[in-house]
Amino acid sequence: MDLEKLIRPNIKSLKAYSSARDEFSGTEGVFLDANENPYGDLNRYPDPYQKALKAKLSEIKNVDTENIFVGNGSDEIIDLVFRIFCKPGKDKALIFSPTYGMYDVSAVINDVELIKVPLLNNFQIDLSTLTPYLKDDELKLIFICSPNNPTGNSLNESDLTKILKGFNGIVVIDEAYIDFSPEKSWTESLHKYPNLIISQTFSKAWGLAAARVGIAYAQKDIIDILNKVKPPYNVSGPNQKTAIKALSDTANFEQNVQLILDEKTKMVEALEQISLVKKVYPSDANFLLIEVANANHLYQELVDKRVIVRNRNSLVKNCIRISIGSKEENRQLIAALKVDE
Ligand code: PMP
Repeated sequence: MDLEKLIRPNIKSLKAYSSARDEFSGTEGVFLDANENPYGDLNRYPDPYQKALKAKLSEIKNVDTENIFVGNGSDEIIDLVFRIFCKPGKDKALIFSPTYGMYDVSAVINDVELIKVPLLNNFQIDLSTLTPYLKDDELKLIFICSPNNPTGNSLNESDLTKILKGFNGIVVIDEAYIDFSPEKSWTESLHKYPNLIISQTFSKAWGLAAARVGIAYAQKDIIDILNKVKPPYNVSGPNQKTAIKALSDTANFEQNVQLILDEKTKMVEALEQISLVKKVYPSDANFLLIEVANANHLYQELVDKRVIVRNRNSLVKNCIRISIGSKEENRQLIAALKVDE
């Protein structure tokens, strides 16, 4: 892979904005350089490179700080990757459908053609359908979501290895749900693949969806370009602090994840007893995809009972996706489903 060739020419030649905190990064002194207000608690711009947050992440994830990028949610990372690698109106990206909807939306926003290769019936990648596309010079990006949203399964390691080795463009592995999964993260193999970007988020297992903090792991040359293109202060000070605080209490994190996984096991057992549930798909995430006779109908019935699930009928016929909630929330869902029996 030749990274220089993959980057859009305007991005390659871009001179990044140099913020006040780029020009002077010390912490001591009288700061009259950023047109900030001298009064208040949130009056100063945050660290543009989130150094304290990356230092904590580095310890926990065992990845060097130079291989970490922090975004305003992983949705920002998806958009940045399109902007860095795809020439609008010319280049292409590829996804395996059904999958997370923002790849498609970001592709359209960036005027990038999106190739959709359907997953097999077992929701794994169909390598024989994919292979011809890998030779397309205009294909710059492949997004792989594992565990996949909305299907819940992890994608086979051997298939992903073949793609990483056989494709000269960038492969983004979206691990938003990895902390719920028994599978290991691709961060362990980061050093092996110059074309790999792994994205993770604080929105799921860390319970900080409101804080909007996403993470990308990649080789330093890719991280440097992400930093060059992002808005200077893309992650707010309070949000950086909130993420650091969460990382400082890993016992709470692990307990919370275990609670959700235990609730998921109970939810599967309960759903399998309900006759209108035809199938509960196996899930490595914090949600379940279930097949019913009529998803549109069931979705509306649940809404009427004030239980809101995600109708995924348009992606997987007659399927709804259920996030694992608290014990009480899950009880309400099961009670609402049972009434109709
Ligand atoms: N990737 C996947 C697979 C997701 O399901 C989501 C959120 N639903 C995201 C990314 C976006 O996460 P964030 O909150 O970090 O923007």
